[in-house]
Amino acid sequence: MYEVERRDLVEKLRKKGITDGKVLEAIMNVERHLFVPEGVRQHAYDDVALPIGWGQTISQPYTVAVMTQALEIEDEEKVLEIGTGSGYQAALLAEMGCRVFSIERNREIYDRTQKLFDELHVRAALRCSDGTLGWAEFAPYDRIIVTAGSPKIPAALKKQLKVGGKLVIPVGDKYSQSLKVLTKLSEEEFAVKDIPHFAFVPLIGKDGWKE
Ligand code: SAH
Repeated sequence: MYEVERRDLVEKLRKKGITDGKVLEAIMNVERHLFVPEGVRQHAYDDVALPIGWGQTISQPYTVAVMTQALEIEDEEKVLEIGTGSGYQAALLAEMGCRVFSIERNREIYDRTQKLFDELHVRAALRCSDGTLGWAEFAPYDRIIVTAGSPKIPAALKKQLKVGGKLVIPVGDKYSQSLKVLTKLSEEEFAVKDIPHFAFVPLIGKDGWKE
């Protein structure tokens, strides 16, 4: 279903500057309409964020594409995602061959997405907890992606990243953020690149925004 719409979306993303073939291929293969509530399904392939309940959203496809491209996925990387939400981003990473670990703080959203992953056989480990503390048990990670906006970069995430690994996180105030793309050069040193002008729902937790 929706193959034509999905192909159109991929073309639109290509025109907007997404060049990573693996990212575009995954967007062609993952059925975004299965990750959004039925009431907004007809808009699943519009390049917009959509509500998923509990005041949260599935990110705009362009935003997902920019972040995934910034991760520079090559092969079977171990990836930690903070903010599972609909599960779409996690499903894309799994489709690209990554070993995916994803944390969601909202119990209802977590339950719904876990059920969806069981039904669709998406291979990703999900957990319900505060992602600002990371997931130490499976650290270090090759890549970490945070899909909610944070006032700062949580220390645990920097620590749980492998040397040579990349961390993508929106940082700013509650209404607008820029994407920080960090490369871990050594235990203490990071190179930082900035991609401006994004807007995410807030990252709420011990090392993020207060409730
Ligand atoms: N990646 C998601 C985007 C979801 S929106 C997708 O593909 O649909 C961001 C999500 O982050 C929300 O579901 C919100 O509940 C969750 N979130 C916010 N703060 C969090 C935290 N500290 N730990 C884990 N999840 C968090």
